[in-house]
Amino acid sequence: MPVAAGREKLKVLIRRSAIQKRVRQVAHQITKDFKGERVHLVGVLKGACIFLSDLVRELSLDTSIDFIAVSSYGKGKQSSGQVRVLKDLDSSIQGLNVVVVEDILDTGLTLSYLLRILQQRKPKTLRVAALLDKPSRRIKDVKADYIGFKIPNEFVVGYGLDYAERYRNLKDVCILSLPTE
Ligand code: 5GP
Repeated sequence: MPVAAGREKLKVLIRRSAIQKRVRQVAHQITKDFKGERVHLVGVLKGACIFLSDLVRELSLDTSIDFIAVSSYGKGKQSSGQVRVLKDLDSSIQGLNVVVVEDILDTGLTLSYLLRILQQRKPKTLRVAALLDKPSRRIKDVKADYIGFKIPNEFVVGYGLDYAERYRNLKDVCILSLPTE
């Protein structure tokens, strides 16, 4: 069982074995879709780093990776609604098959902002792989091309996802409840 800090509670939502199996399926789909081409993965820091690391190793393609960091949540559980780039890509994506790798698609504010700025840089194609999707929370009409799991409206941590920078190392995706809830 994952260990929670203080009076916080964790409940496993998606087990590591299910994540591993699904990541492999998503990778096979991407491999099929881009057969014979190069794919440039753009990981959205920091939450997507573990998903990206597992995903890229399952791709049977010519690949390259880069990272971008955006802020939207600050330290809490609520989105501020404002997105800005904290760390930009290292290199140009012009003419590349770009797959944005996200940890979770929630309101869609982050992704719609990212897609807008990345599209301006003229990639050949621009797709999105999100490990998790909370469709009930959507404010912006934006969709991922590859989705690991659809989940209910719960705050989750683990497998790269944090609460105030903690819990990213959990192997399962867990629902976090705070003492006040
Ligand atoms: P959106 O802009 O779609 O509302 O939010 C996307 C970002 O919010 C994600 O990349 C993630 O960093 C954060 N986020 C949304 N829902 C959750 C959640 O349940 N748990 C965690 N840890 N982060 C979340």
